[in-house]
Amino acid sequence: PREYKSHDKLELKDIFIAVKTTRKYHKSRLELLIQTWVSQAKEQTFIFTDGDDKELQTRTGANIINTNCSAAHTRQALCCKMSVEYDKFIESQRKWFCHVDDDNYVILPSLLRLLSSYHHSQDVYLGRPSLDHPIEAAERVKSDGSVSVKFWFATGGAGFCISRGLALKMSPWASLGNFISTAEKIRLPDDCTIGYIIEALLEVALTHTHLFHSHLENLQKLPIDSVLEQVSERFKTVHCLLYPDTEWCPELKAR
Ligand code: UDP
Ligand code: MN
Repeated sequence: PREYKSHDKLELKDIFIAVKTTRKYHKSRLELLIQTWVSQAKEQTFIFTDGDDKELQTRTGANIINTNCSAAHTRQALCCKMSVEYDKFIESQRKWFCHVDDDNYVILPSLLRLLSSYHHSQDVYLGRPSLDHPIEAAERVKSDGSVSVKFWFATGGAGFCISRGLALKMSPWASLGNFISTAEKIRLPDDCTIGYIIEALLEVALTHTHLFHSHLENLQKLPIDSVLEQVSERFKTVHCLLYPDTEWCPELKAR
């Protein structure tokens, strides 16, 4: 009989999931996240924030990392967080780096299935492009002037993943604070800077996938006030459909 190569099969523990958050969202967003999908991936999820929360940390046992980055919603502060996410991933030795915002519900079995069709030693950058065309940026060169560069990038609000093989190649522009100076060269946000390093500098193409979604997509289809009412409910419904045994999920009766 053919031997089953269990070491070939990608497991949840091979993935490093970075969640970007900020101190003011610990109560309103993190609580829900930790109660739902993060509870199924406690060891692999790392929450990157900008302030201490010993109470949340001890009560939930979640991996909460204070980046000591500024809590301002500026390009510099967000790039500072991404830079810490990157360094922690490299340190972790895991096979895949996935980044999400704190208002994303990550459907773990789907993530595992998607990543299983690629190899972590190849150059893989997976995500949803935020525009239907490549972004054009002015790349600052030396002190005098700039040149135009075009590249695709995956929108951070929908989440994206990078293989370890590719992440290691990003090191000269991404590790140990270099990410912040790279972002300054094009003066664009953190997710664009990731795209710039991978597509423009390393010449590796983004693999476009529509399996990642940001909340902005649904907001366009539904009346704003009904979305605001349903977001937490829908968020929990997704969780209970996936993990009906969770103690706070309703019993599965006639659905
Ligand atoms: N965020 C942050 N610092 C801030 C504000 C927001 O790190 O000062 C994070 C937030 O936790 C989330 C992401 O940035 O992960 C996007 O924020 P939000 O969902 O509020 O904005 P939008 O999706 O509308 O851009
Ligand atoms: Mn958001």
